[in-house]
Amino acid sequence: MAVTEAGNGTFGADAALECHINLSNGKFIKSSGTLSNPIQFLKGVGPRRAALFSQLGIATVGDLMRYFPRDWQNREETKDLTLPTATGLVVLKAKVVKAGNFQAGPRLALFKAKLNTGSGTVEAVWFKHLSRRFDVFASLKKEVVPGADLWVVGRAEPSLLGIREIHVDEHYLLEDQRWRLHVGRIVPVYALTEGITQRFLRELMNRALHESVEESVDILPKELSLKRELLAPAQAVKAIHFPGSQAELEAARSRLAYEELLLLELAWILKRRQTRSISKGFGYEIKRTLLTPFKKQLGFELTGAQKRVINEIFSDMQQGYPMTRLLQGDVGSGKTVVALSALLLAVENGAQGVFMAPTEILAHQHMNTITRFLKALPVRTALLTSRFKPKERENILTALRKGELDLLVGTHALLEEDVQFPKLRLGVIDEQHRFGVRQRSTLRQKSSLLDLLVMTATPIPRTLALALYGDLDVSTLDEMPPGKVTAETAFSTETAALEAVKEAVAKGRQAYIVYPIIEESSRLDLQSAKAEFKRLSETTLHGLRVALIHGAMPSRQKTVVMAEFAAGKSDVLVATPVIEVGIDVANATVMVIQNADRFGLASLHQLRGRIGRGTEASKCYLVADPKTEQAKARIETLVASSDGFRIGEEDLKLRGPGEMLGTAQHGELTLKVADIVKDAPLLAQARADAEGLLDADERLLSAGNTLLRERLIELYQHKWTWIDLA
Ligand code: ADP
Ligand code: MG
Repeated sequence: MAVTEAGNGTFGADAALECHINLSNGKFIKSSGTLSNPIQFLKGVGPRRAALFSQLGIATVGDLMRYFPRDWQNREETKDLTLPTATGLVVLKAKVVKAGNFQAGPRLALFKAKLNTGSGTVEAVWFKHLSRRFDVFASLKKEVVPGADLWVVGRAEPSLLGIREIHVDEHYLLEDQRWRLHVGRIVPVYALTEGITQRFLRELMNRALHESVEESVDILPKELSLKRELLAPAQAVKAIHFPGSQAELEAARSRLAYEELLLLELAWILKRRQTRSISKGFGYEIKRTLLTPFKKQLGFELTGAQKRVINEIFSDMQQGYPMTRLLQGDVGSGKTVVALSALLLAVENGAQGVFMAPTEILAHQHMNTITRFLKALPVRTALLTSRFKPKERENILTALRKGELDLLVGTHALLEEDVQFPKLRLGVIDEQHRFGVRQRSTLRQKSSLLDLLVMTATPIPRTLALALYGDLDVSTLDEMPPGKVTAETAFSTETAALEAVKEAVAKGRQAYIVYPIIEESSRLDLQSAKAEFKRLSETTLHGLRVALIHGAMPSRQKTVVMAEFAAGKSDVLVATPVIEVGIDVANATVMVIQNADRFGLASLHQLRGRIGRGTEASKCYLVADPKTEQAKARIETLVASSDGFRIGEEDLKLRGPGEMLGTAQHGELTLKVADIVKDAPLLAQARADAEGLLDADERLLSAGNTLLRERLIELYQHKWTWIDLA
């Protein structure tokens, strides 16, 4: 394919790339009923509570009904008092036999009642902090009197002798029919804000549903509801708050989740089809003037996976529309070589490329790799980071503007406005999840017709990738370069780990000791890394050459420390996770990760990817005192598996997509009910149905699709800039 030269914007595609979803001018159908009424006017709310509700994003009655529970609790009556319940939750219907209050300490008081459940007696206890100003037991004294019938919800210590004593959280009088919302059933549990209780919200929700839920309109086309056997929306909304059974709850949840996922998939598919209709106005010719000498001087044969992925990328670049491709590959799978091949294809064709990395160290490392791999090739390459002196920076910018540079490597400093490229056509973003959504779209804005390759070492299953980055094409490096030794991982004590460090050093090897530092700015964490450096060099590791590296160091100093370690001038590198990505020292065979419970799963996997870079057997020691189940699960996963795909999936399960992707990105997904991990089968259905709908009606203009289209516009129209790239 011939290359046609084109300056930026010549094709008027700037606007087109904004990719506004243009589904044409259907009229918006506003509900005319009570759904749009302000919540303030619901009985029991008023202006003060309305302000609290607005903190929860609830302004109208419709919003309230769409404020779905974050969880549900099964509060069916506990029938058998002799059996300890698994959760400790106890729900009893009983008659009060005896009641009274006691002072239990200077500030704490108890109210105790003996209850008869019909099958036995139990002691119920309410705990209250004493108040000087009022009687904290006033209402209990009135309600919990001998002879009264009530429900109590509370906790009991599991005991082989059965339940003897309950700590009461809530109680309801049988004579007040409202108990039916709170006990003897599956009960909704909402995310709250101070000043609003579960009890109040449940009662308010019930009233709102009673008055308004029938007004819910079905935005889904009839055929789909029939085909997927979906509940009617009013029924689903009612049941998600107050389900009659577990099965009804499931049906309601999946109806609402399906709707969300269908909308999401419609948005992605529309977006993707739109991008594909843009013509970038040039193609690439595989000339091999650079690619062939590059391959020759690599010193190794590309893996089958690398070859396949390079082909996928090349064929994208040769398409008439801009590439948006995600390259997933485990730590060490050889993404850099793939990225370089793509960049060289661009350069062969007279274009410029950028290679953007999330940290200074990684940018430097890439620059070194590139210099090594491109030795003697006529590719003019420069590095740019935010730490450059004004003069150095200016020189680079001038060369860039004049077209005297082919390749620019750097950090987000590349994104600054005065960094201008006359012929930028390919952008590569390494460790894309480390960047914000905005930074990625800024890169694309530098050139309206940019081909974009984003890379990640935290691979996730393909179906999930499609849900999360639905308009991207996905390539996967599923093969490791030959001769890679996988590092073994062990859960260890500090003593044993440090012993291993000393042994390795005695054999001429090197080691990393990593401390968590959650925020680069966290002084406390930093101090502890420094203090530990001092402690270790003076005690256990005395006599070894120990160096320190952390994120707050001037970048020059970091580079020096790294270079010295790489050259074998130090034995042990005490580090914060600045070394997480990219560092490549083959002689380092031991890594000790201190307080490993404080790192995320993906981070730990990335960190340990820093060893096992050579041919020597390597070992990673996780030193931790995991206090939560999650932390334990993370460590167990790492010890058991070295497969990045499994770890990515596990990470997603443990943390949920929100944290994994960063809340900004996930927040944009606007999923309230659906969970892209657990609802993977629904997601597949939604994707197929969305394809079907758009194949039959590409702009959703038919009468049956009107409501769907309106909802889609409402949800996603203004989000296109990030959808563009994420
Ligand atoms: P990552 O995917 O983690 O970015 P890198 O691109 O840093 O991985 O590659 C890891 C190491 O493997 C580098 O030292 C690289 O030179 C080497 N490498 C890459 N591809 C191959 C290959 N096909 N055969 C042997 N070594 C390779
Ligand atoms: Mg890499």
